Amino acid sequence: MRFTFEHFRHCPRCGAAVEAAGRDRPLRCGACGFLYFFNAAAAVGAFVVRTDGRSLWLRRARPPRAGSLGLAGGFVDLGETVEAALRRELREEVGLAPDRFDFIGSEPNEYEYADVSYPVCDLFFEARVPAEAAIRPQIDEVAGWVWLAPEEVDPEAIAFHSVRRIFERWRGGQRTAA
Ligand SMILES: [Zn+2]
Repeated sequence: MRFTFEHFRHCPRCGAAVEAAGRDRPLRCGACGFLYFFNAAAAVGAFVVRTDGRSLWLRRARPPRAGSLGLAGGFVDLGETVEAALRRELREEVGLAPDRFDFIGSEPNEYEYADVSYPVCDLFFEARVPAEAAIRPQIDEVAGWVWLAPEEVDPEAIAFHSVRRIFERWRGGQRTAA
């Protein structure tokens, strides 16, 4: 599995062969001078918390790590605000429309799909919903869901290390990382 930027071996402007870009090295074309910086994609995730303290966990239907626990959320589209992405993902994935979100913190992540690993910056939020909140998960994206109290969550069952790390901080009552 290689990072997005490692797959670019030719200049997208003039077609000359180039040395692959790295984590801290942009794509640079010696033939035409084209220079391109690869950055992390933004993604959002939400701890949707009921008034009884239980939060929503979705069981992933698709790779990577199908069957493991994840949060409602997804990638921020081009031209979209983080807030709009959060509302769109919650509406599309679970049919919820919380009226406010609180920022918890962010974590770097890597999203692997179709032999490409995408660098991602995950932004996490907390949304509160009534205890009787009814959710309507998208069947094709979600294999199931559970409302769990923080102490009932097995961190090993969480799909992404970024979510595992933010969960530990969130459970400990910590917000934005120093
Ligand atoms: Zn070039």
